[in-house]
Amino acid sequence: MSGNQTRLQAIDIITNRQPTAVDKPKALGKIWAEDVFNLQKMEEALSKNAFKAIKKTVQTGTALDSATADVVAAAMKDWAIGKGVKFFSHIFYPMTNITAEKHDGFIITNSDGGAITEFTGSLLIKGEPDGSSFPNGSLRMTNAARGYTAWDPTSPAYIMHTENGATLMIPSVFMSWTGEALDKKIPLLRSNSAMNDAAQKVLSLMGEEEIATLNSSCGAEQEYFLVDENFANARPDLLLTGRTLFGAPSAKGQQFDDHYFGAIPARVQVFMQDFEDTLYKLGIPAKTHHNEVAPGQFEIAPYYEAANVAADHQQLLMTVMKSTAKKHGFLCTLHEKPFAGINGSGKHVNWSVGNSTQGNLLDPGSTPHSNLNFLLFCGAVIRGVHKYGPLLRAVVATASNDHRLGANEAPPAILSVYLGEQLENVYKDIQAGKIATSATGGLMDLGLSQILHFERDPGDRNRTSPFAFTGNRFEFRAVGSSQSVSGPLVAMNTMLADSLNWIAEKLEAALAGGAEKSVAVISVLKELMELHGNAVFGGDGYSEEWHKAAVEERGLKNIPTTADALPIYHDQSVIDLFDKTGVFSPIELESRYEVYAEQYILTIDVEANLVSDIATTKIYPTAVSYLSELGLTSSSMADLGIELDTSLTISIATETNSMMAAVAELNDAIAKEDFADTEAHMHFCAETILPLMATVREHADTLEGLVADELWPLPKYREMLFIK
Ligand code: ADP
Ligand code: MG
Repeated sequence: MSGNQTRLQAIDIITNRQPTAVDKPKALGKIWAEDVFNLQKMEEALSKNAFKAIKKTVQTGTALDSATADVVAAAMKDWAIGKGVKFFSHIFYPMTNITAEKHDGFIITNSDGGAITEFTGSLLIKGEPDGSSFPNGSLRMTNAARGYTAWDPTSPAYIMHTENGATLMIPSVFMSWTGEALDKKIPLLRSNSAMNDAAQKVLSLMGEEEIATLNSSCGAEQEYFLVDENFANARPDLLLTGRTLFGAPSAKGQQFDDHYFGAIPARVQVFMQDFEDTLYKLGIPAKTHHNEVAPGQFEIAPYYEAANVAADHQQLLMTVMKSTAKKHGFLCTLHEKPFAGINGSGKHVNWSVGNSTQGNLLDPGSTPHSNLNFLLFCGAVIRGVHKYGPLLRAVVATASNDHRLGANEAPPAILSVYLGEQLENVYKDIQAGKIATSATGGLMDLGLSQILHFERDPGDRNRTSPFAFTGNRFEFRAVGSSQSVSGPLVAMNTMLADSLNWIAEKLEAALAGGAEKSVAVISVLKELMELHGNAVFGGDGYSEEWHKAAVEERGLKNIPTTADALPIYHDQSVIDLFDKTGVFSPIELESRYEVYAEQYILTIDVEANLVSDIATTKIYPTAVSYLSELGLTSSSMADLGIELDTSLTISIATETNSMMAAVAELNDAIAKEDFADTEAHMHFCAETILPLMATVREHADTLEGLVADELWPLPKYREMLFIK
């Protein structure tokens, strides 16, 4: 079947399509976490002592002793087998944004040839996948490419059901034999602990006596697009890269804003219900869902959880979302910019830190004392965004997110922090020395009373800021929809740890000099704002004035592409930050640079090859066959003495030639191999290959508007976005 027939047939099929039948929604209480081996299930299955030990591990991250591990493993196996499970898998998170798993059976045979099941503590705690095919950057040299996985007991095991049966999944860390982190989980755990150490120091200096372990929390809002599979299957670009490499804009796009928060289409609604029921069974607290700005775009936001669990759940959510979409006849693309000219998808990462004794430290609280704590922690974030803004840019740097950042729909590639008018004024007053400290040294009123009555107004938010305070948390909006939230969380926790360490040092000195506590806090914050207040910005982040002022007046960096952003991993300040906090050794950090750079280059390489392929084998043949049709018509008309206007024919011929000339240039560029280093290669991708791909596309998209609709081989934007 030729491409255009597939396309026309797809329209026909979709028009008559009914929602996939699913089970009636069940009561939440009936299905919630039914597939999760959580604390509640452990309590039912374990002795009092064993439960006490595992609970302590889960809640504080202390090591699990081997006796308890054996008991937990046996209980976990029995529970899973009781639910029809035959296999288990350590699930882990390599440095790419994917999730990896290796399945093993519980089965072993005994001497009589009978089959029995076995699952010991050591199998639970340690598995040995052959890590050789996972990208591990320079770590490849140091560990002979093998790695092992170990259960992270702070993240519960669960059962994953697929068409082919059920598997017990064990969330795990992945490391080399020499102890280097090969994954995204270990750094996150380490960053939490660095943040906890630093926060403990500050809180002790503030006179807190009982201080529970601090943890970071994360609530991630996930945007995504659904495209009917009949269209997607006819779009090799969507299938292979998650985005359209060609496609003229639809006459109607998102200009009416009529999709946003509009009624959810019936088929999508059925998909969402099915998807969310699966999430509930897996103990993932899906909370809100709605249409997004672009047609065909939607959002799901689970309720926030401990960052480590939230990160695992986020990965699981992406997997379940894609497979459920498939079941409902959709391709779910998490690409940051599937359609040119239409809003892209992000993943807002809401983040806060707190514990059970002091609560959320990014919540202003209701007493002057908790307000001082809040001012310090929030100040620490301001310093972090200023000092490590380029790092925050680097951790969201991917080939796909580059299409979104900096365009007028997503946060700019300049990192600043939005506080809201009221809070911004408090910090400005502190910086200007306007918050007077009273002579007697008692709690000052001016300023602090302002925050006491701090109003949380989520409606009054600056959507143009990449990093915004939203009342009791910060929202990092530059994160891409396809990304793991781990990298951003690691950066945020670590920059916070660094800032809290800085604050602790200054505070300690001020207190040792005899300053009263509130006086000491204000003086530290004054210094902090003088050094780092430039990152605070409440205006329009999309505006041209800001792009100019940020760089020229405030000294902030505008980092447009991944090629510019990734080398930030080589900055001495970044190497020191991670080394000092124990989050990444220099060699671990370097391996991240290598893996991310390789991913960037590979992504663009695949896209470039596909652009060349589609232009040559789909668009060119369509254009020339239409040209030949026009030519034949023209000459048969001429035989009748009728002169047909040839301007359309000429335009098509010209565009076709120009497109193929650009394809030839692109092919030459793809073939280039000699690069001084990875950085030079990345810049070549950004500055030569991508523009050439854009040129090919420009001509192809023009042709789309000239060639007869019935011949066009690729489903069009208006079809993919509007036919559901
Ligand atoms: P909006 O779309 O207005 O930004 P949503 O309600 O869709 O907000 O999403 C906000 C996200 O922030 C949710 O995942 C929510 O659970 C999460 N969140 C709320 N409070 C906190 C907090 N203290 N720390 C981290 N995340 C939080
Ligand atoms: Mg949000």
